[in-house]
Amino acid sequence: MSRLIFKDARIIDPLSGTDEVADLWVEDGLIAGVGEAPPSGQVVDLEGRVLTPGLVDMHVHLREPGGSHKETLRTGTEAASAGGFTAVAHMPNTSPVVDTPRWVRWVLDRSKGLPARIYPIAAVTEGQKGRELTDFGALRSAGAVALSDDGRPIACEEVMRRALARAKEVGVLLILHEEDPELSAGGVVDSRVAGALGVRGIPPEAEENMLARDLSLAEEVGVRIHIAHVSTAGSVRLIREAKSRGVPVTCETAPHYFSLTYEALFRHGTNAKMNPPLRSEEDRLEVLRGLADGTIDVIASDHAPHSPQEKALPLPEAPFGVVGLETTLGVSWTVLVEGGVLPPSELLAKLSLNPARILGVPGGRLTPGTPADLTVIDPEVEWTVDPESFRSKARNTPFAGRNLKGRVVMSVVSGSITYWKGTYRASSI
Ligand SMILES: [Zn+2]
Repeated sequence: MSRLIFKDARIIDPLSGTDEVADLWVEDGLIAGVGEAPPSGQVVDLEGRVLTPGLVDMHVHLREPGGSHKETLRTGTEAASAGGFTAVAHMPNTSPVVDTPRWVRWVLDRSKGLPARIYPIAAVTEGQKGRELTDFGALRSAGAVALSDDGRPIACEEVMRRALARAKEVGVLLILHEEDPELSAGGVVDSRVAGALGVRGIPPEAEENMLARDLSLAEEVGVRIHIAHVSTAGSVRLIREAKSRGVPVTCETAPHYFSLTYEALFRHGTNAKMNPPLRSEEDRLEVLRGLADGTIDVIASDHAPHSPQEKALPLPEAPFGVVGLETTLGVSWTVLVEGGVLPPSELLAKLSLNPARILGVPGGRLTPGTPADLTVIDPEVEWTVDPESFRSKARNTPFAGRNLKGRVVMSVVSGSITYWKGTYRASSI
């Protein structure tokens, strides 16, 4: 039997809300206990650093199949590991689209031996074209943890209604990208900054109108939905109100929506272009309120890598999306914990327990007998984001040069250390 002991850890368990110094030990890849460790084993002395369930990112674009010049399953999971994520959910808007059981299995087969777990999400409609539904039951049986046409909305109401009814029958979660393509057509950035940048705008209503439609459809059908990347104050209010009347909805936001506004476009250009776009300060503050009051369940990176050549195009032509796997924890810790918005256990719930629960996958807990997926965070480290140090193939971040407090220093999957920063050494006793 092999035993790995994390000594003097500040163990934060988002399930119980406990935050206390203790040891946690791992035997043969499984969590074996929390408390005072047995006297022998390999020891990693954490000297009071935070030890928490491995982070789970439920919204990641790893670009394979088809986009290996932007990212691969390997580089994407290396970036995940460096960012503290021990599991990621793989969005299906690849080339080809992951819309058949064969492609779900393709992703799963190539996930083996990588430094983070990959949970495939499959498409809702064939080719994500928004017309014919995919085979929900077969996709779920093949291993898809949810279905999404992320990257684009399901604009046709009748198709959405059928998708929700089918999702209810099969018992599979739909993750919805809310955008009214008529309102957003040709849009590049938020409509309130579009004039200053000389491009077409995407109004907040493009997100909110489609969201309002889907909340009432989900309520009518009686099926659970999850809303991707909430970006506007109106969306937060709609979801808050829907939750209060019992609509089975959960949602996520991404770090850029609570840490930046469209002002970032003037400094970071195409590296601050994503969809939905960065919004106003009023929107950012409402997203913070939504995180604080529990309206927003999850923080996900929406990691969307692109090559430097693609992001060097002029603002209207450059692709939407920013990378986030390696900055999500640091930005979140800085803005939310240091900023007094959330206690650490609530932040970590939104980064592990809640996404695991919503997807119905393991993780987010420190239960003895379960795989030892763990993340170590040094909350005192101050650092500056340097895109050249990313494990990701891509560099397209709006956080370049940003000073952060709180950094991932170790990731552990099934008891194996997959990422390690600094001077930690395991010693035998
Ligand atoms: Zn999306």
